Amino acid sequence: MTNEANPFESLQEQIDDAAAHLDVGDDVLDRLKHPERVLELNLSVEQDDGSLERFRAFRSEFNGDRGPYKGGIRYHPGVTRDEVKALSGWMVYKCAVVDIPYGGGKGGIVVDPSDYSAAEIERLTRSFAEELRPFIGEDTDIPAPDVNTGQREMNWIKDTYETLENTTEPGVVTGKSLESGGSEGRVEATGRSVMLTAREAFEYLDKDMDGASVAVQGYGNAGHIAAYLIEDLGANIVAVSDSSGAIYAEDGFDAREVKTYKNETGSVSGYSGADEEFSNEDLLTLDVDLLVPAALENAIDGDLARDVQADVIVEAANGPLTPDADDVLTDADVHVFPDILANAGGVTVSYFEWVQNRQRFYWTEEKVNEELERHVVSAFEDLVECYETVDVANLRTAAYVVAIQRVADAFTDSGNWP
Ligand code: GLU
Repeated sequence: MTNEANPFESLQEQIDDAAAHLDVGDDVLDRLKHPERVLELNLSVEQDDGSLERFRAFRSEFNGDRGPYKGGIRYHPGVTRDEVKALSGWMVYKCAVVDIPYGGGKGGIVVDPSDYSAAEIERLTRSFAEELRPFIGEDTDIPAPDVNTGQREMNWIKDTYETLENTTEPGVVTGKSLESGGSEGRVEATGRSVMLTAREAFEYLDKDMDGASVAVQGYGNAGHIAAYLIEDLGANIVAVSDSSGAIYAEDGFDAREVKTYKNETGSVSGYSGADEEFSNEDLLTLDVDLLVPAALENAIDGDLARDVQADVIVEAANGPLTPDADDVLTDADVHVFPDILANAGGVTVSYFEWVQNRQRFYWTEEKVNEELERHVVSAFEDLVECYETVDVANLRTAAYVVAIQRVADAFTDSGNWP
C-alpha cells in the first residue's frame, strides 16, 4: 500500500459522488453507506505445539435488499474492521452492477497464512466456520474465496457447516473444488471478467488489443489469469509484479510460464526472461496501453496517479485506486474501468455455482463461460449507457449510479419494516 486511505471512507465517498445523479432520498442513501451488521470475533486456535493462539476475525453483512449477503473471506495481516466493511459494501454494488440476486458481505482474518502449517490453517478456518454458523447458509450469507483463500478453505467451511448442521447444503459457500460441489470455470472467473472488460473497453475506445502493451500489478489468482487471457487476445504482457517486486520485458512475457516460475520459486523476481527488475510503483507508472492493478486496495493514491502514464486501467483488485487518484486520472483523461464491473466475474460464477448446487445439476465449462460473458458484456453496456446519458465524471460514478439505483429500488419496493 502506498498510502493510508481508509477504504470504508473511500466507499462512502464513491457513493456520495453518485448521489447527485440518483433518484434516491438522503435517508435511503444514508442506509446504503453503512453495513447492516458486523461480527467481530476472537478465535482461539490450537497450534501444532499445543499452545493457543488468538486471531481477530470479522464478517460484515452490508446489505441484503437484493438477496443473501455474498462475498469472500480473506486471510491477510493487514485486515481491519473498516477494510472488511468497505469490501462488503463493494460486494453489494458489484452484485447489483452484474445484476445477480445477492446483497453483499465480506469476511477476514488478521493472519499471514504463510506463517502457519496447513493443519493450523484448517483449525483456524473450521473455528471461524463454527462461529459463523448461525449467520451463514445458502439463503442468508454465502462466503467465498478472497485474498489468500481458495478451494481448500471453502471445502473446510462447507464440511464444518454441513457436519454441525447435519445436512447437505453445498450452496452455503462457493469457490469449492469440483469434487466438493464447485463449478467449472470458477477459478478462472475473476481473471476472465477482467479480460472481457479490457476487451470491451478497447473496442469502445477504438483501440487495438493486438500488440497492446500491458502491465499487471499482483500475480495471484486474478492477476495471472487476467494476464494470460489478455495475452490470448494478442496483447503483450510487458510487466508483472508481486509483493517481491516487478519484472519487465520489452518484448513481453509468456504469462503462463511466469506463473509456473512463481509456483516453483515463490515469487516472480529472478525470472530469467526479464530485461529489468524494479518496484511495484515503477510498474504502476509505466507507459503502457493497459494497466491492471490486481493486488490490494490503495495501490494508486493521488500522488502516484500524477505519474501514471497508462491510457486505460482495468481494476482486477478491489479498491486499488483512492478517490484522490480517481480525481487525478479523470482530469488526465485516463479511462478507468472500475472493480465492481471488471472483477465481478468471480461472484458471477459463484452465483452459477450456487444455482448448480441448488439444482444438483452441473453445467459444462462452455456454458459457464458463455453465461459469464453475457453478464459482463451486458453490465458493460449498462455502464457505458449511463456514462453517455448522465453527466457523471467517470465510469466508476456511472457504475455506482446504476448499482445504487438498483439496490435502492429493491429496498423501496419492499418497504421499511419493522
Ligand atoms: N472475493 C471475490 C470478490 O471480491 C468473490 C466473491 C464471491 O464469489 O462471493 O468479488
